[in-house]
Amino acid sequence: MESRIEDVVIIGSGPAGWTAAVYAARARLEPLVFEGAPSREMIPGGQLMFTTEVENFPGFPEGIDGQKLMLEMKAQAERFGTRVVTDDIVEVDPSSRPFRLRTAEGNVVHARTVIVATGARANWLGLDNEERLAQTGGGVSACAVCDGALPAFRDQVLAVVGGGDSAMEEALYLTKFAREVVLIHRRDTFRASPIMAERALEDPKIRVEWNTEVSEVLGEEFITGLRLRDTGTGEERELEVGGLFLAIGHTPNTGFLAGVLDLDEAGYIVTQTPWRTETKVPGIFAAGDVMDSYYRQAVTAAGTGCMAALEAERFLAHQGGEDAGHDLPAEPVAAEG
Ligand code: NAP
Repeated sequence: MESRIEDVVIIGSGPAGWTAAVYAARARLEPLVFEGAPSREMIPGGQLMFTTEVENFPGFPEGIDGQKLMLEMKAQAERFGTRVVTDDIVEVDPSSRPFRLRTAEGNVVHARTVIVATGARANWLGLDNEERLAQTGGGVSACAVCDGALPAFRDQVLAVVGGGDSAMEEALYLTKFAREVVLIHRRDTFRASPIMAERALEDPKIRVEWNTEVSEVLGEEFITGLRLRDTGTGEERELEVGGLFLAIGHTPNTGFLAGVLDLDEAGYIVTQTPWRTETKVPGIFAAGDVMDSYYRQAVTAAGTGCMAALEAERFLAHQGGEDAGHDLPAEPVAAEG
């Protein structure tokens, strides 16, 4: 990594990150994007990489594949001079000016402004066998679109847990492969938007287990069934399934920001004022799902990415550009611990 002061470092590569990059790059700020290293829970490009058809992003009347949309956004950002690093930022020192960031690989980056756009990741129920089978490819997944087409799930009874739009979307997607999809929801009404709920309820392959939660995941090498509990009576019963897909919401990726920025009780970044992206640290901005627990849409994430880039640009203009692009003395990476 070069030892120079970056004008704008963007952490994250979903719609918010790439939109911020497009704006910052077109403002000649040569943004540096840390797109994240691929892991079990997240890959560069964020949650849309796990979505097949995006029908509600304006400009695509026939819908667009989620992965394609993200690759197009990245290409658009790169076209204007955005630089991309496939690594995570694991530490932000808000007390130094310029800010000092450390990557998972141990490199140090100096930035005059930072845009945090790290999004959110899937939640799990927290059952022992759930995690074990998810890690060993035993038929438990938090992403139907990533894993649903695997041969092991063909013509099986597949369970989806959740009552939001993700659960509806995952259940509908799985009907392409499954013999039957059982939607397991802990209440008696869905949280999902009416249009998505309607589609799921009308699908002949989808059956709903209302007022039900999963108390145990059964199976040694591969899932064989679920122990279900009636949330009203507490009565337990078993359901044979050949796959389990969790769709129970997300947690913002802000672990590396504890003590750095204000976070709400669910971990979302709190911004200073409504309709602004500046955090409690002047020069650090937040965009996308990492600061939005309410809308959580690709288009709103893109919108806040734009806002963050414009705010960063104005912040830099106020600060003056005397140290921008200047070299810093090289620092030994090992000394960063
Ligand atoms: P969500 O709306 O927060 O729904 C999470 C669901 O999981 C809720 O039904 C919740 O139950 C249930 N749940 C949470 N914790 C649970 C637990 N421990 N055990 C059992 N059930 C649990 O999350 P989402 O569905 O991922 O959607 C997030 C946002 O993305 C929403 O704004 C949604 O509209 C949007 N989205 C849109 C689309 C689309 O338009 N195509 C697709 C996907 C997502 P309760 O209802 O009882 O709380």
